[in-house]
Amino acid sequence: MIHIKTPEEIEIMRKAGRILAATAKQILELAKPGVKLKYLDTIARNLIEKAGAKPSFLNYQPYGAIKPYPCSICASVNEVIVHGVPREHLLKPGDILKLDFGVNYDGYNADAAWTVPIGEISIEAQKLIDTTREALNRGVAAAKVGNKLGDIGYAISSYVKAQGLHISEGLTGHGIGKELHEEPSVFNEGQKGSGFKIEPGLVIAIEPMVAIGTSEVIQLDDDSYATADGSLSAHFEHTVAITKNGVEILTK
Ligand code: MG
Repeated sequence: MIHIKTPEEIEIMRKAGRILAATAKQILELAKPGVKLKYLDTIARNLIEKAGAKPSFLNYQPYGAIKPYPCSICASVNEVIVHGVPREHLLKPGDILKLDFGVNYDGYNADAAWTVPIGEISIEAQKLIDTTREALNRGVAAAKVGNKLGDIGYAISSYVKAQGLHISEGLTGHGIGKELHEEPSVFNEGQKGSGFKIEPGLVIAIEPMVAIGTSEVIQLDDDSYATADGSLSAHFEHTVAITKNGVEILTK
């Protein structure tokens, strides 16, 4: 069932989104060569709690996961696409880091992700990051009243494929609200004019995941997902609310 949100609910989610964005800005500034992922997790948790909110990911157990998630952020490096657990790994020059996390404020969630270079990175890695960011922009632009969810997937996948890159298969965006993951699934591929009709009050997380070498995805022992061929992957995500006045990014 799809939960259409009232303007009051969206206002709470706007606050969750603001806390998330402010936290992300500080964490991304700390992400430098020599920094341990676990340290970023600790700082993120402190910032979120200081803002009067809760980290949505901590102890979250999605369907199919073996155990509850032990951290406040996901930190996925290089070929790891999503759900990377921030432990002892030290960031090094040339890495690309995907920071993905959720904030729960007053019972409502926001969810977003960014990919950043650590030190100097390759031209291919930079193109991957730029393409994925632009794919998200195009997906957000397609999230308007009168369109359908398939238009979002089409906007994302047609752009990514034209750049010679690959959408990671089986990984999708989602509705969001009281639950971190709600219906509908928001696919990164789709056909124009197909799927659920976008209406005011729909709040969704749009999140293209793109790889250089393949669309094939494998699951690793720690529940994280990686590219099957070990090639680099990028991920950007925003929580967006569709209102009468247009689409609003809640996590900017
Ligand atoms: Mg998400």
